[in-house]
Amino acid sequence: MTADLTCPICLGRAFSQVEDLRFSVPRPQGGAAGAEWFSYDILSCDACGHVMTDRPYGEGFIENLYASPLEKERWTHDDREPYGEMIAFARGDLDRALAAGEGRILDIGCGFAKVLQQLYAEGIASERLLAVDFRRQVPDGIPFLECNLNGLDGSAATGFDGYAFAFCTHLLEHTLDPRTFLRALRVAAAPGAGLYLEVPDHSLTGRDVVALSNLWSPQHLHYFTPESLSALATSCGWSVAGNESSLFGFVPRVRLLLRAETHAAAVEATRDSFRQLRALRDALAARLSRESGNGPVAVWGLGTDLLLAIEGHPKLAESIRAGHIVVFDLAQRGQSHLEREIGDPDALAAFDGPIVLAARPANTRFRMREAAVAMGIDSARLIDVFDEA
Ligand SMILES: [Zn+2]
Repeated sequence: MTADLTCPICLGRAFSQVEDLRFSVPRPQGGAAGAEWFSYDILSCDACGHVMTDRPYGEGFIENLYASPLEKERWTHDDREPYGEMIAFARGDLDRALAAGEGRILDIGCGFAKVLQQLYAEGIASERLLAVDFRRQVPDGIPFLECNLNGLDGSAATGFDGYAFAFCTHLLEHTLDPRTFLRALRVAAAPGAGLYLEVPDHSLTGRDVVALSNLWSPQHLHYFTPESLSALATSCGWSVAGNESSLFGFVPRVRLLLRAETHAAAVEATRDSFRQLRALRDALAARLSRESGNGPVAVWGLGTDLLLAIEGHPKLAESIRAGHIVVFDLAQRGQSHLEREIGDPDALAAFDGPIVLAARPANTRFRMREAAVAMGIDSARLIDVFDEA
C-alpha cells in the first residue's frame, strides 16, 4: 500500500482493504500468448468511506494506459448515446451562460468532445466552445486546448480561465487527485459559472452493470457514489443545484449540476465582527478621553484592546504620559508603559477617580468586577464600556 495515500474527500490517511483488482496486459510479441499481470488494492477510507485504489504506478503508467486512441464508447444494447440528454440536464444553466455572451463552454477531459460537437451542430459559435484534454482526439472545427489535467492546481493560469459552463463527464474517476482538480476548476470558473459533472455511480450495481460495463478497470482510480461526489464538490466550493443517479443503458452514472456561487457569508460575518471590535475600542478610547477631562481616571487591564485603542487614538498616549490616565494591570504591575509605572490593581481601592475596565473578554472583565467588590470598591466607580448598549 502506498504510504502517502490520501483520501481526496476527508484527507484521511488510514484505509481498509475492500478488494484486490487484478488485470492483465497482453504481451504484443508473436508466438505464445502471454500477459503481464498487475494488481492493485481497492481501499476504503476509514474516516469517510470513500473507495479508491492504491496506485502502484506514477504518471508514466497512466500515460501508457491512455496512449492508444479512444475507441467509440458503447453505452446501450442499441448503441444510443447520452450526449443529448447530458445537454438537456444542463439546459437552464447552459442557456444562461450562453445568453451572458462571454465565457467559453468547456468539455474538459473531452475525448472526442461529443457534447461540444452537438452544441456546434445546434449553431453555437465555435469561438464559444473549447475542448480540453490530455491529447487531441476532437475533430477539426472544435477549438482544442491540450492540458495535463492531473497538473492543474488552481495556482496558475489555465488557458480556460473565466469559463461560463463546463461539461466534465467520466473524467474525475481517472484523476490522480480529484480534489485538486475540482478546486482548480472552481478557481478558473467565472462567477456563477456552471459545471455538469458526471462519473460512474458505484452505488448502482446489477447484472447488466456487472456483465456489460467496464467499471472495474485499471483506469478507474476513484469509486464515487452520489453522496461522496456531492461531499467532494461542495468542499471544493461548488454548490449542488441538481443531483441525479441513473442508468444509461448499462452504464450507472451520478451527475451533478454544480454552480460556482460566491460564498460571501463567512467573509462578511468576519468583516462585520471586526467593524464591531473597532467600534468597541473607539468607544473605550472616547470614554477614557472624556473621563480624563474631569480629573484622573484609572484604566484597568493593559492588553490588546487598550493597546489598539491607544494606537488608534494617539491623544490617549499623551494623557497617560501626563498622568491623567493611570494604567493598572495585575500581570505587568511595576513595569512601565509610556514612561509611567503600571499600578498594582490592589491599589485601586485607594485611587481617587473612576475606574475604566479595559479588558473586553468577559472572563477577564468579570473577574475584575469580582475583585473590585472584594476590595470594597463602590461599583458606581466602575465603568464598563463593553457592557453598555
Ligand atoms: Zn476520507
